[in-house]
Amino acid sequence: MITNNGSDKNHRNFNTKNVLEIDNLSFQYTKSIKVLEDISISFREKELTLIAGPNGSGKTTLIKHFNGLLTPTEGIVRVFGHQVSSKNRREIQKQIGVVFQNPDEQIFFPKVYDDVAFGPRNMHFSSEEVDLRVKAALQDVQIENLAERITFNLSFGEKKRLALAGILAMKPKIIVLDEPTIGIDPWSKPRLIDLIIHLKQNHTVIVISHDFDMMKKADRILLLKKGKIFGDFNLYEDFYNQEFN
Ligand code: ADP
Repeated sequence: MITNNGSDKNHRNFNTKNVLEIDNLSFQYTKSIKVLEDISISFREKELTLIAGPNGSGKTTLIKHFNGLLTPTEGIVRVFGHQVSSKNRREIQKQIGVVFQNPDEQIFFPKVYDDVAFGPRNMHFSSEEVDLRVKAALQDVQIENLAERITFNLSFGEKKRLALAGILAMKPKIIVLDEPTIGIDPWSKPRLIDLIIHLKQNHTVIVISHDFDMMKKADRILLLKKGKIFGDFNLYEDFYNQEFN
């Protein structure tokens, strides 16, 4: 693996700053093909990590292991030191929120407000607390004016923001975003990137993206190829020079 600062060494040993650890993770959907092969990486508190790599390299498959949506064929995933399993998946999902590429997979309620309220209601917060969280989350993603709208009628970009608001309202410590800027117009994109960078103040943020504007802001870029970690960079320029020059 290519590193430009020996960072993997720092990331390997679990300590309080490593909030998510992946040890020797391999995964196959079918017997014949390994989609992920022997991946070991750690993610530190309040770091913005970007995961890049060609289509089909296993990025989405990898993040589906973070909150137990997929179970490793081999290896271990730990969130705050706890091994992710089918038994603690629900607890883990309060700590780590994943926003998928297609917002339609994550929007279930006819009204915007109710969709964002679903997570906090499920966590049994008072109606006052639910209301505070919903309003703050909608404000964070700048769609507070859509609270009473029907989710079905929203534009793709609005749905992407709504899916993110639903995760923010649960206040997870780790936020994972799969291609957040795809389908977002160029006027809204800088504000969305600013929001993601702002999230880093209180969260560990992991983003799958090929957006160069996004990459330039990341603390770390992981390059995935054919199911393996191929590079681990702290500087966008190092990543870019290796891959495209
Ligand atoms: P990426 O996010 O990097 O584009 P994915 O993780 O989506 O890659 O996919 C990695 C590989 O796994 C691809 O070859 C894809 O076709 C395959 N794959 C993804 N989901 C499934 C599935 N549910 N069943 C079988 N193969 C799958």
